[in-house]
Amino acid sequence: MNYYFCDACHYCFEYSTPPDRCPDCGKTQWREHPAVRPATEKEIADLLRAKAEDEAELNLTACG
Ligand SMILES: [Zn+2]
Repeated sequence: MNYYFCDACHYCFEYSTPPDRCPDCGKTQWREHPAVRPATEKEIADLLRAKAEDEAELNLTACG
């Protein structure tokens, strides 16, 4: 899995192959360049942290 980032809607996502468009907003171009580009390490770290927080929240709900 690789990580990609959409400059049009700021969506970070995992994808096995480089997508030609954003799976969230569907854009192919953004301000004269491709909307989707490989995510930076910081963006990947942010995504993983957000995912971990989501899971922690789900676990709390399940226990509560
Ligand atoms: Zn997008």
